[in-house]
Amino acid sequence: MGILITDTTLRDAHQSLIATRMRTRDMLPIAAELDRVGFFSLEVWGGATFDACIRFLNEDPWERLRSLREKVKNTRLQMLLRGQNLVGYRHYADDVLKEFIRLSVKNGIDVFRIFDALNDIRNMELAIKVAKEHRAHVQGSICYTTSPVHTTDKFVAMAVELERLGCDSICIKDMAGLISPAAAAELVKAIKSKVNAPLNLHSHCSCGMAPLSYYAASLAGADILDTAFSAFGWGTSQPPTESMVAAFKDTPYDTGLDLELLYEIGEYFAAVSGKYRMLFTAETTRPNVNVLLHQIPGGMLSNLVSQLREQNALDKFSQVLEEVPRVRADLGYPPLVTPTSQVVGIQAVLNILAGARYKQVTQEVKNYLLGQYGRPPGEINEEVRKQVTGEERPIDVRPADRIKPELPALREEGHKLGIIHRDEDLVTYALYPQVAVKFLRGELKEEAMPSLPETTAKSTAVPDLPLELSVDVDGEVFNVKIASVLGKTIEVEKAKKPKQLPPGAVTSPMQGMVLAVKVKVGDKVKAGDALITIEAMKMQNQVTAPHSGTVKEILTFQGEVVNSGDVLMVVEQNG
Ligand code: MN
Repeated sequence: MGILITDTTLRDAHQSLIATRMRTRDMLPIAAELDRVGFFSLEVWGGATFDACIRFLNEDPWERLRSLREKVKNTRLQMLLRGQNLVGYRHYADDVLKEFIRLSVKNGIDVFRIFDALNDIRNMELAIKVAKEHRAHVQGSICYTTSPVHTTDKFVAMAVELERLGCDSICIKDMAGLISPAAAAELVKAIKSKVNAPLNLHSHCSCGMAPLSYYAASLAGADILDTAFSAFGWGTSQPPTESMVAAFKDTPYDTGLDLELLYEIGEYFAAVSGKYRMLFTAETTRPNVNVLLHQIPGGMLSNLVSQLREQNALDKFSQVLEEVPRVRADLGYPPLVTPTSQVVGIQAVLNILAGARYKQVTQEVKNYLLGQYGRPPGEINEEVRKQVTGEERPIDVRPADRIKPELPALREEGHKLGIIHRDEDLVTYALYPQVAVKFLRGELKEEAMPSLPETTAKSTAVPDLPLELSVDVDGEVFNVKIASVLGKTIEVEKAKKPKQLPPGAVTSPMQGMVLAVKVKVGDKVKAGDALITIEAMKMQNQVTAPHSGTVKEILTFQGEVVNSGDVLMVVEQNG
Protein backbone atom coordinates (compact mmCIF):
# COMPACT_ATOMS: atom_id res chain seq x y z
CA MET A 1 0.00 0.00 0.00
CA GLY A 2 1.30 3.38 -0.94
CA ILE A 3 1.43 6.35 1.38
CA LEU A 4 -1.72 8.47 1.69
CA ILE A 5 -1.38 12.24 1.72
CA THR A 6 -3.34 14.86 3.64
CA ASP A 7 -2.72 18.27 2.12
CA THR A 8 -2.71 21.11 4.68
CA THR A 9 -2.19 24.12 2.40
CA LEU A 10 -5.57 25.63 3.20
CA ARG A 11 -5.22 25.28 6.99
CA ASP A 12 -1.99 24.53 8.82
CA ALA A 13 0.39 25.79 6.13
CA HIS A 14 -0.82 29.37 6.03
CA GLN A 15 -1.52 29.28 9.77
CA SER A 16 2.13 28.39 10.34
CA LEU A 17 3.69 30.75 7.81
CA ILE A 18 1.50 33.82 7.48
CA ALA A 19 -0.58 33.89 10.68
CA THR A 20 -3.64 32.27 9.02
CA ARG A 21 -4.29 35.14 6.64
CA MET A 22 -5.13 33.32 3.38
CA ARG A 23 -8.48 34.50 2.09
CA THR A 24 -11.27 32.23 0.88
CA ARG A 25 -11.16 34.00 -2.48
CA ASP A 26 -7.61 32.67 -2.93
CA MET A 27 -8.74 29.12 -2.10
CA LEU A 28 -11.84 28.65 -4.21
CA PRO A 29 -10.30 28.99 -7.70
CA ILE A 30 -8.10 25.93 -7.08
CA ALA A 31 -10.51 23.82 -4.99
CA ALA A 32 -11.82 21.70 -7.87
CA GLU A 33 -8.26 20.93 -8.99
CA LEU A 34 -7.31 19.92 -5.46
CA ASP A 35 -10.31 17.59 -5.50
CA ARG A 36 -8.93 15.84 -8.60
CA VAL A 37 -5.58 14.90 -7.02
CA GLY A 38 -6.74 11.98 -4.90
CA PHE A 39 -5.57 13.13 -1.48
CA PHE A 40 -6.68 11.14 1.55
CA SER A 41 -8.06 14.45 2.79
CA LEU A 42 -7.73 18.21 2.53
CA GLU A 43 -7.23 19.93 5.85
CA VAL A 44 -9.12 23.17 5.34
CA TRP A 45 -10.71 24.23 8.58
CA GLY A 46 -10.37 24.45 12.36
CA GLY A 47 -7.29 25.38 14.31
CA ALA A 48 -6.84 29.12 14.06
CA THR A 49 -8.76 29.53 10.79
CA PHE A 50 -12.04 30.13 12.57
CA ASP A 51 -10.68 32.89 14.79
CA ALA A 52 -8.63 34.52 12.00
CA CYS A 53 -11.61 34.59 9.63
CA ILE A 54 -13.65 36.61 12.06
CA ARG A 55 -11.00 38.70 13.74
CA PHE A 56 -8.92 39.74 10.75
CA LEU A 57 -10.59 38.83 7.47
CA ASN A 58 -14.23 39.71 8.11
CA GLU A 59 -15.12 36.30 6.69
CA ASP A 60 -17.69 33.87 7.99
CA PRO A 61 -15.77 30.65 8.62
CA TRP A 62 -18.94 28.59 8.08
CA GLU A 63 -19.37 30.20 4.69
CA ARG A 64 -15.75 29.33 3.81
CA LEU A 65 -16.44 25.71 4.66
CA ARG A 66 -19.67 25.57 2.66
CA SER A 67 -18.13 27.12 -0.42
CA LEU A 68 -15.17 24.74 -0.31
CA ARG A 69 -17.56 21.82 0.12
CA GLU A 70 -19.43 22.90 -3.00
CA LYS A 71 -16.27 22.63 -5.07
CA VAL A 72 -14.66 19.63 -3.37
CA LYS A 73 -17.08 16.84 -4.17
CA ASN A 74 -14.95 13.70 -3.73
CA THR A 75 -12.14 14.38 -1.30
CA ARG A 76 -12.64 14.29 2.47
CA LEU A 77 -12.56 17.71 4.09
CA GLN A 78 -10.70 17.66 7.37
CA MET A 79 -10.60 19.96 10.35
CA LEU A 80 -8.46 20.31 13.43
CA LEU A 81 -10.49 20.25 16.64
CA ARG A 82 -8.93 21.13 20.00
CA GLY A 83 -11.03 18.62 21.95
CA GLN A 84 -13.18 20.39 24.51
CA ASN A 85 -11.56 23.71 23.43
CA LEU A 86 -13.12 23.29 19.94
CA VAL A 87 -11.54 26.14 17.94
CA GLY A 88 -11.17 28.44 20.93
CA TYR A 89 -8.80 28.87 23.83
CA ARG A 90 -10.80 27.61 26.78
CA HIS A 91 -13.02 24.67 27.68
CA TYR A 92 -16.57 25.02 26.45
CA ALA A 93 -19.66 23.39 27.88
CA ASP A 94 -20.76 20.06 26.44
CA ASP A 95 -23.79 21.61 24.72
CA VAL A 96 -21.56 24.01 22.77
CA LEU A 97 -19.33 21.11 21.73
CA LYS A 98 -22.26 19.01 20.51
CA GLU A 99 -23.74 21.85 18.50
CA PHE A 100 -20.36 22.81 17.04
CA ILE A 101 -19.69 19.27 15.81
CA ARG A 102 -23.22 18.85 14.45
CA LEU A 103 -22.90 22.04 12.41
CA SER A 104 -19.36 21.24 11.27
CA VAL A 105 -20.60 17.97 9.78
CA LYS A 106 -23.65 19.66 8.32
CA ASN A 107 -21.50 22.29 6.59
CA GLY A 108 -19.10 19.77 5.13
CA ILE A 109 -16.50 18.28 7.50
CA ASP A 110 -15.73 14.57 7.02
CA VAL A 111 -12.66 14.09 9.18
CA PHE A 112 -12.14 15.44 12.69
CA ARG A 113 -8.57 15.41 13.90
CA ILE A 114 -9.09 15.70 17.64
CA PHE A 115 -6.44 16.46 20.22
CA ASP A 116 -6.01 17.79 23.71
CA ALA A 117 -3.09 20.06 24.48
CA LEU A 118 -2.26 18.12 27.66
CA ASN A 119 -2.99 14.70 26.08
CA ASP A 120 -5.69 14.41 28.74
CA ILE A 121 -8.11 11.98 27.11
CA ARG A 122 -10.95 13.14 29.38
CA ASN A 123 -10.94 16.34 27.30
CA MET A 124 -11.28 14.39 24.02
CA GLU A 125 -13.81 11.67 24.85
CA LEU A 126 -17.01 13.58 24.23
CA ALA A 127 -15.78 15.09 20.95
CA ILE A 128 -14.79 11.62 19.74
CA LYS A 129 -18.16 10.19 20.73
CA VAL A 130 -20.22 12.98 19.18
CA ALA A 131 -18.23 13.04 15.92
CA LYS A 132 -18.67 9.25 15.70
CA GLU A 133 -22.43 9.64 16.20
CA HIS A 134 -22.44 11.95 13.18
CA ARG A 135 -20.62 9.22 11.21
CA ALA A 136 -17.51 11.31 10.73
CA HIS A 137 -14.04 9.83 10.47
CA VAL A 138 -12.35 10.50 13.79
CA GLN A 139 -8.62 10.81 13.97
CA GLY A 140 -7.43 10.68 17.56
CA SER A 141 -4.25 12.65 18.04
CA ILE A 142 -1.30 12.37 20.32
CA CYS A 143 0.52 15.65 20.86
CA TYR A 144 4.16 14.76 20.42
CA THR A 145 6.71 16.48 22.57
CA THR A 146 9.95 15.75 24.33
CA SER A 147 10.44 16.24 28.05
CA PRO A 148 11.66 14.32 31.08
CA VAL A 149 8.09 13.00 31.56
CA HIS A 150 7.22 11.96 27.98
CA THR A 151 8.12 8.41 26.94
CA THR A 152 7.37 6.11 23.99
CA ASP A 153 5.43 3.80 26.33
CA LYS A 154 3.12 6.61 27.41
CA PHE A 155 2.47 7.65 23.80
CA VAL A 156 1.70 4.04 22.84
CA ALA A 157 -0.68 3.65 25.77
CA MET A 158 -2.50 6.75 24.61
CA ALA A 159 -2.77 5.43 21.03
CA VAL A 160 -4.22 2.17 22.34
CA GLU A 161 -6.76 4.08 24.42
CA LEU A 162 -7.78 6.26 21.46
CA GLU A 163 -8.38 3.20 19.30
CA ARG A 164 -10.40 1.64 22.11
CA LEU A 165 -12.57 4.78 22.13
CA GLY A 166 -13.41 4.18 18.48
CA CYS A 167 -10.98 6.43 16.63
CA ASP A 168 -10.75 5.48 12.94
CA SER A 169 -7.14 6.56 12.65
CA ILE A 170 -4.41 7.80 14.95
CA CYS A 171 -2.22 10.84 14.44
CA ILE A 172 1.18 11.61 15.85
CA LYS A 173 0.78 15.36 15.96
CA ASP A 174 4.27 16.82 15.99
CA MET A 175 3.09 20.43 15.95
CA ALA A 176 6.49 21.96 16.63
CA GLY A 177 8.43 19.75 14.22
CA LEU A 178 10.57 18.15 16.89
CA ILE A 179 10.47 14.49 15.90
CA SER A 180 13.79 13.15 14.61
CA PRO A 181 13.96 10.39 11.99
CA ALA A 182 15.06 7.86 14.60
CA ALA A 183 12.38 8.91 17.08
CA ALA A 184 9.73 8.80 14.37
CA ALA A 185 10.73 5.27 13.34
CA GLU A 186 10.75 4.08 16.94
CA LEU A 187 7.38 5.61 17.82
CA VAL A 188 5.66 4.51 14.59
CA LYS A 189 6.91 0.94 15.04
CA ALA A 190 5.84 0.86 18.68
CA ILE A 191 2.33 2.19 17.96
CA LYS A 192 1.85 -0.05 14.91
CA SER A 193 2.68 -3.08 17.02
CA LYS A 194 -0.23 -2.33 19.35
CA VAL A 195 -2.79 -0.56 17.15
CA ASN A 196 -4.59 -1.57 13.95
CA ALA A 197 -5.95 1.82 12.92
CA PRO A 198 -4.06 3.69 10.17
CA LEU A 199 -1.31 5.90 11.55
CA ASN A 200 -0.74 9.47 10.38
CA LEU A 201 2.42 11.48 11.02
CA HIS A 202 1.93 15.23 11.12
CA SER A 203 5.09 17.29 11.40
CA HIS A 204 6.59 20.68 10.55
CA CYS A 205 9.90 21.64 8.92
CA SER A 206 10.65 24.07 11.76
CA CYS A 207 14.06 22.56 12.45
CA GLY A 208 14.48 21.06 9.01
CA MET A 209 14.19 17.34 9.83
CA ALA A 210 10.60 16.62 8.81
CA PRO A 211 11.16 15.21 5.29
CA LEU A 212 13.73 12.76 6.74
CA SER A 213 11.39 11.88 9.58
CA TYR A 214 8.56 11.28 7.10
CA TYR A 215 10.75 8.89 5.16
CA ALA A 216 11.81 7.05 8.32
CA ALA A 217 8.20 6.89 9.52
CA SER A 218 7.07 5.49 6.17
CA LEU A 219 9.66 2.72 6.30
CA ALA A 220 8.50 1.96 9.84
CA GLY A 221 4.87 1.56 8.74
CA ALA A 222 3.17 4.99 8.83
CA ASP A 223 0.11 5.16 6.55
CA ILE A 224 -0.65 8.87 6.11
CA LEU A 225 1.60 11.94 5.88
CA ASP A 226 0.69 15.63 6.02
CA THR A 227 2.20 17.91 3.39
CA ALA A 228 1.62 21.36 1.91
CA PHE A 229 2.19 22.75 -1.58
CA SER A 230 5.78 23.95 -1.92
CA ALA A 231 5.02 27.69 -1.96
CA PHE A 232 3.34 27.20 1.42
CA GLY A 233 5.63 24.42 2.60
CA TRP A 234 9.00 24.27 4.40
CA GLY A 235 9.85 26.57 7.29
CA THR A 236 7.39 26.27 10.11
CA SER A 237 4.93 24.57 7.72
CA GLN A 238 4.74 20.99 6.39
CA PRO A 239 7.14 19.29 3.96
CA PRO A 240 6.24 20.09 0.33
CA THR A 241 3.57 17.93 -1.25
CA GLU A 242 5.27 17.78 -4.66
CA SER A 243 8.66 16.81 -3.20
CA MET A 244 7.32 14.09 -0.93
CA VAL A 245 5.25 12.59 -3.75
CA ALA A 246 8.30 12.65 -6.03
CA ALA A 247 10.48 11.10 -3.33
CA PHE A 248 8.24 8.05 -2.98
CA LYS A 249 7.66 7.57 -6.71
CA ASP A 250 8.32 4.03 -8.01
CA THR A 251 8.87 2.63 -4.51
CA PRO A 252 6.55 0.50 -2.38
CA TYR A 253 5.44 3.78 -0.78
CA ASP A 254 4.39 5.43 -4.07
CA THR A 255 1.46 7.75 -3.37
CA GLY A 256 0.09 7.25 -6.88
CA LEU A 257 -0.58 11.01 -7.17
CA ASP A 258 -0.04 12.77 -10.51
CA LEU A 259 3.07 14.95 -10.28
CA GLU A 260 2.06 17.03 -13.31
CA LEU A 261 -1.25 17.97 -11.74
CA LEU A 262 0.56 18.74 -8.48
CA TYR A 263 2.98 20.94 -10.38
CA GLU A 264 0.10 22.92 -11.92
CA ILE A 265 -1.56 23.42 -8.55
CA GLY A 266 1.83 24.33 -7.11
CA GLU A 267 2.15 27.12 -9.65
CA TYR A 268 -1.22 28.48 -8.59
CA PHE A 269 -0.17 28.57 -4.94
CA ALA A 270 3.16 30.15 -5.87
CA ALA A 271 1.20 33.01 -7.42
CA VAL A 272 -1.01 33.26 -4.32
CA SER A 273 2.02 33.29 -2.01
CA GLY A 274 3.28 36.31 -3.96
CA LYS A 275 0.28 38.31 -2.81
CA TYR A 276 1.14 37.55 0.80
CA ARG A 277 4.91 37.90 0.50
CA MET A 278 5.07 40.71 3.07
CA LEU A 279 3.83 38.25 5.70
CA PHE A 280 6.53 35.64 5.17
CA THR A 281 9.32 36.33 7.67
CA ALA A 282 12.80 34.95 8.13
CA GLU A 283 11.71 33.57 11.50
CA THR A 284 9.07 31.33 9.91
CA THR A 285 10.68 30.36 6.63
CA ARG A 286 14.19 29.39 7.74
CA PRO A 287 14.90 26.11 9.56
CA ASN A 288 15.97 26.73 13.11
CA VAL A 289 17.18 23.89 15.31
CA ASN A 290 16.62 26.15 18.31
CA VAL A 291 13.01 24.93 18.09
CA LEU A 292 14.25 21.74 19.76
CA LEU A 293 14.80 23.84 22.90
CA HIS A 294 11.83 26.21 22.94
CA GLN A 295 9.38 23.79 21.20
CA ILE A 296 7.06 26.54 19.96
CA PRO A 297 4.79 25.26 17.18
CA GLY A 298 4.73 26.96 13.80
CA GLY A 299 1.42 28.72 14.24
CA MET A 300 2.43 30.15 17.58
CA LEU A 301 5.85 31.23 16.37
CA SER A 302 4.50 33.46 13.62
CA ASN A 303 1.94 34.77 16.10
CA LEU A 304 4.58 35.52 18.72
CA VAL A 305 6.60 37.49 16.20
CA SER A 306 3.62 39.57 15.16
CA GLN A 307 2.50 40.09 18.77
CA LEU A 308 5.97 41.15 19.91
CA ARG A 309 6.07 43.54 16.99
CA GLU A 310 2.73 44.97 18.15
CA GLN A 311 4.18 45.49 21.63
CA ASN A 312 7.25 47.14 20.09
CA ALA A 313 9.40 44.42 21.59
CA LEU A 314 10.64 42.36 18.67
CA ASP A 315 14.18 42.89 20.00
CA LYS A 316 13.22 40.69 22.98
CA PHE A 317 12.38 37.73 20.72
CA SER A 318 15.40 35.61 21.65
CA GLN A 319 15.01 36.35 25.38
CA VAL A 320 11.40 35.22 25.15
CA LEU A 321 12.43 32.02 23.36
CA GLU A 322 14.82 31.27 26.23
CA GLU A 323 12.14 31.91 28.84
CA VAL A 324 9.63 29.55 27.19
CA PRO A 325 11.25 26.26 28.34
CA ARG A 326 11.56 27.61 31.90
CA VAL A 327 7.86 28.48 32.06
CA ARG A 328 7.02 25.13 30.49
CA ALA A 329 8.99 23.26 33.18
CA ASP A 330 7.22 25.29 35.89
CA LEU A 331 3.87 24.19 34.44
CA GLY A 332 4.70 20.46 34.36
CA TYR A 333 5.93 20.15 30.75
CA PRO A 334 2.72 20.63 28.77
CA PRO A 335 3.14 19.92 25.05
CA LEU A 336 3.14 23.31 23.38
CA VAL A 337 0.09 23.49 21.14
CA THR A 338 -2.94 25.75 21.24
CA PRO A 339 -3.99 26.71 23.83
CA THR A 340 -1.02 25.70 26.03
CA SER A 341 1.42 27.26 23.56
CA GLN A 342 -0.37 30.57 24.04
CA VAL A 343 -0.56 30.10 27.81
CA VAL A 344 3.16 29.36 28.07
CA GLY A 345 4.27 31.67 25.26
CA ILE A 346 2.44 34.74 26.52
CA GLN A 347 3.56 34.14 30.09
CA ALA A 348 7.14 33.99 28.83
CA VAL A 349 6.52 37.30 27.04
CA LEU A 350 5.12 38.86 30.22
CA ASN A 351 7.98 37.53 32.35
CA ILE A 352 10.45 39.22 30.01
CA LEU A 353 8.55 42.45 29.38
CA ALA A 354 7.80 42.94 33.10
CA GLY A 355 11.40 42.19 34.01
CA ALA A 356 10.27 39.82 36.78
CA ARG A 357 8.87 36.31 36.60
CA TYR A 358 5.13 35.90 37.28
CA LYS A 359 4.76 39.52 38.39
CA GLN A 360 2.16 39.95 35.68
CA VAL A 361 0.15 36.73 35.20
CA THR A 362 -2.59 36.01 32.69
CA GLN A 363 -5.93 34.66 33.84
CA GLU A 364 -5.16 31.61 31.68
CA VAL A 365 -2.00 30.74 33.63
CA LYS A 366 -3.96 31.02 36.84
CA ASN A 367 -6.67 28.75 35.43
CA TYR A 368 -4.06 26.30 34.20
CA LEU A 369 -2.51 26.10 37.68
CA LEU A 370 -5.98 25.46 39.09
CA GLY A 371 -6.39 22.39 36.84
CA GLN A 372 -8.89 24.05 34.54
CA TYR A 373 -7.14 22.82 31.39
CA GLY A 374 -6.84 19.26 32.66
CA ARG A 375 -4.06 17.17 34.11
CA PRO A 376 -0.53 18.42 33.35
CA PRO A 377 1.84 15.66 32.20
CA GLY A 378 4.35 16.37 34.99
CA GLU A 379 4.60 18.05 38.36
CA ILE A 380 3.82 21.75 38.70
CA ASN A 381 6.40 24.01 40.33
CA GLU A 382 4.75 24.45 43.74
CA GLU A 383 6.42 27.79 44.42
CA VAL A 384 4.97 29.25 41.25
CA ARG A 385 1.57 27.78 42.05
CA LYS A 386 1.60 29.35 45.51
CA GLN A 387 2.74 32.69 44.14
CA VAL A 388 -0.02 32.75 41.54
CA THR A 389 -3.02 31.00 43.10
CA GLY A 390 -2.39 31.39 46.83
CA GLU A 391 -4.57 29.08 48.89
CA GLU A 392 -6.96 28.12 46.08
CA ARG A 393 -6.76 24.38 45.37
CA PRO A 394 -6.73 22.87 41.85
CA ILE A 395 -9.70 20.80 40.66
CA ASP A 396 -9.26 17.13 39.81
CA VAL A 397 -12.28 16.45 37.58
CA ARG A 398 -12.68 16.92 33.82
CA PRO A 399 -12.74 20.73 33.47
CA ALA A 400 -15.94 20.73 31.39
CA ASP A 401 -17.78 18.87 34.16
CA ARG A 402 -17.83 22.15 36.03
CA ILE A 403 -19.24 24.16 33.13
CA LYS A 404 -23.02 24.45 32.98
CA PRO A 405 -24.78 24.39 29.60
CA GLU A 406 -23.94 27.67 27.89
CA LEU A 407 -26.23 27.83 24.87
CA PRO A 408 -29.61 28.74 26.44
CA ALA A 409 -28.38 31.99 27.98
CA LEU A 410 -26.28 32.84 24.92
CA ARG A 411 -29.25 32.25 22.64
CA GLU A 412 -31.33 34.68 24.66
CA GLU A 413 -28.55 37.28 24.77
CA GLY A 414 -27.77 36.83 21.10
CA HIS A 415 -31.38 37.34 20.10
CA LYS A 416 -31.58 40.46 22.22
CA LEU A 417 -28.48 41.75 20.47
CA GLY A 418 -30.04 40.83 17.14
CA ILE A 419 -27.00 38.88 15.96
CA ILE A 420 -28.41 35.34 15.61
CA HIS A 421 -29.70 34.72 12.12
CA ARG A 422 -28.86 31.03 11.87
CA ASP A 423 -27.71 28.21 14.16
CA GLU A 424 -24.10 28.80 13.12
CA ASP A 425 -24.22 32.38 14.43
CA LEU A 426 -25.04 31.14 17.91
CA VAL A 427 -21.99 28.87 17.92
CA THR A 428 -19.78 31.68 16.61
CA TYR A 429 -21.09 33.86 19.43
CA ALA A 430 -20.49 31.10 21.98
CA LEU A 431 -16.91 30.67 20.82
CA TYR A 432 -15.89 34.33 20.61
CA PRO A 433 -18.39 36.43 22.55
CA GLN A 434 -16.39 39.68 22.25
CA VAL A 435 -15.38 39.80 18.63
CA ALA A 436 -18.42 37.85 17.36
CA VAL A 437 -20.86 40.61 18.29
CA LYS A 438 -19.06 43.15 16.12
CA PHE A 439 -18.55 40.59 13.37
CA LEU A 440 -22.16 39.42 13.27
CA ARG A 441 -23.38 43.01 13.25
CA GLY A 442 -21.23 43.65 10.21
CA GLU A 443 -19.13 46.23 12.05
CA LEU A 444 -15.77 44.69 11.20
CA LYS A 445 -13.66 45.24 8.12
CA GLU A 446 -11.22 42.97 6.37
CA GLU A 447 -7.73 44.04 7.38
CA ALA A 448 -5.70 45.52 4.56
CA MET A 449 -3.39 43.24 2.62
CA PRO A 450 0.09 44.27 3.73
CA SER A 451 1.79 46.00 0.85
CA LEU A 452 5.41 46.48 -0.04
CA PRO A 453 6.98 49.59 1.47
CA GLU A 454 7.07 52.65 -0.78
CA THR A 455 9.73 52.16 -3.43
CA THR A 456 12.91 54.09 -2.90
CA ALA A 457 12.50 55.65 -6.34
CA LYS A 458 10.63 58.57 -4.83
CA SER A 459 13.25 59.07 -2.15
CA THR A 460 16.16 59.13 -4.55
CA ALA A 461 14.51 62.05 -6.31
CA VAL A 462 15.12 64.22 -3.25
CA PRO A 463 18.62 63.27 -2.12
CA ASP A 464 20.12 64.41 1.15
CA LEU A 465 17.15 66.42 2.26
CA PRO A 466 17.68 66.98 5.97
CA LEU A 467 14.68 66.11 8.01
CA GLU A 468 14.00 66.39 11.70
CA LEU A 469 11.11 64.78 13.44
CA SER A 470 9.84 64.54 16.95
CA VAL A 471 8.46 61.12 17.76
CA ASP A 472 6.46 60.19 20.83
CA VAL A 473 7.07 56.59 21.93
CA ASP A 474 5.07 55.58 24.97
CA GLY A 475 5.33 59.02 26.52
CA GLU A 476 8.98 59.49 25.77
CA VAL A 477 9.67 62.10 23.11
CA PHE A 478 12.56 61.44 20.78
CA ASN A 479 14.10 63.89 18.35
CA VAL A 480 14.86 61.99 15.21
CA LYS A 481 17.25 63.54 12.75
CA ILE A 482 17.35 61.83 9.37
CA ALA A 483 20.65 62.86 7.86
CA SER A 484 20.17 60.97 4.64
CA VAL A 485 16.80 60.18 3.15
CA LEU A 486 18.17 56.86 1.98
CA GLY A 487 18.51 55.97 5.62
CA LYS A 488 22.26 55.50 5.89
CA THR A 489 22.46 57.64 9.00
CA ILE A 490 19.59 57.95 11.34
CA GLU A 491 20.24 59.69 14.61
CA VAL A 492 17.92 59.31 17.48
CA GLU A 493 18.23 61.22 20.68
CA LYS A 494 15.95 61.36 23.62
CA ALA A 495 14.53 64.84 23.81
CA LYS A 496 12.43 65.37 26.89
CA LYS A 497 11.54 63.55 30.01
CA PRO A 498 8.57 61.18 29.88
CA LYS A 499 5.21 62.85 30.07
CA GLN A 500 4.16 63.48 33.65
CA LEU A 501 1.75 60.85 34.88
CA PRO A 502 -0.97 62.03 37.25
CA PRO A 503 -0.40 60.82 40.84
CA GLY A 504 -2.08 57.42 41.36
CA ALA A 505 -2.15 56.68 37.64
CA VAL A 506 -2.76 53.06 36.65
CA THR A 507 -1.21 52.39 33.26
CA SER A 508 -1.69 49.61 30.77
CA PRO A 509 1.20 47.13 30.86
CA MET A 510 0.56 46.14 27.24
CA GLN A 511 -1.17 46.91 24.01
CA GLY A 512 -4.58 45.24 23.88
CA MET A 513 -8.34 45.60 24.12
CA VAL A 514 -10.19 46.41 27.32
CA LEU A 515 -12.57 43.52 27.97
CA ALA A 516 -13.98 44.66 31.27
CA VAL A 517 -13.72 47.53 33.73
CA LYS A 518 -14.33 45.95 37.10
CA VAL A 519 -14.62 49.03 39.31
CA LYS A 520 -16.45 52.33 39.25
CA VAL A 521 -15.54 55.81 40.36
CA GLY A 522 -15.68 56.04 44.13
CA ASP A 523 -14.91 52.34 44.75
CA LYS A 524 -12.39 51.58 47.45
CA VAL A 525 -9.70 49.14 46.31
CA LYS A 526 -6.84 47.31 47.93
CA ALA A 527 -3.39 46.83 46.39
CA GLY A 528 -3.59 43.83 44.06
CA ASP A 529 -7.33 44.07 43.39
CA ALA A 530 -8.31 43.44 39.77
CA LEU A 531 -9.31 46.72 38.11
CA ILE A 532 -9.45 46.02 34.41
CA THR A 533 -9.21 43.00 32.14
CA ILE A 534 -7.22 43.51 28.96
CA GLU A 535 -7.17 41.03 26.14
CA ALA A 536 -3.80 40.92 24.48
CA MET A 537 -2.32 38.16 22.41
CA LYS A 538 -5.58 36.24 22.87
CA MET A 539 -5.00 36.02 26.61
CA GLN A 540 -6.83 37.83 29.35
CA ASN A 541 -4.63 39.94 31.58
CA GLN A 542 -5.70 41.53 34.85
CA VAL A 543 -4.53 45.04 35.55
CA THR A 544 -4.37 45.26 39.33
CA ALA A 545 -4.31 48.14 41.74
CA PRO A 546 -0.69 49.17 42.44
CA HIS A 547 -1.76 50.56 45.83
CA SER A 548 -4.81 50.82 48.08
CA GLY A 549 -7.07 53.80 47.63
CA THR A 550 -10.17 55.18 45.96
CA VAL A 551 -10.96 55.10 42.26
CA LYS A 552 -10.97 58.75 41.30
CA GLU A 553 -11.23 58.66 37.55
CA ILE A 554 -11.68 56.02 34.83
CA LEU A 555 -10.14 56.95 31.51
CA THR A 556 -10.98 53.89 29.44
CA PHE A 557 -14.02 51.86 28.46
CA GLN A 558 -14.93 48.34 27.46
CA GLY A 559 -13.85 47.67 23.88
CA GLU A 560 -11.18 50.38 23.75
CA VAL A 561 -7.85 49.43 22.23
CA VAL A 562 -5.14 50.74 24.54
CA ASN A 563 -1.41 51.02 24.18
CA SER A 564 1.32 50.10 26.60
CA GLY A 565 1.71 53.01 29.04
CA ASP A 566 -1.73 54.51 28.47
CA VAL A 567 -3.30 55.80 31.67
CA LEU A 568 -6.38 53.65 32.32
CA MET A 569 -7.54 55.11 35.61
CA VAL A 570 -6.49 57.08 38.60
CA VAL A 571 -6.58 55.49 42.04
CA GLU A 572 -6.04 58.11 44.71
CA GLN A 573 -3.86 56.72 47.47
CA ASN A 574 -5.31 56.60 50.95
CA GLY A 575 -4.02 59.06 53.49
MN1 MN B 1 0.50 21.50 12.73
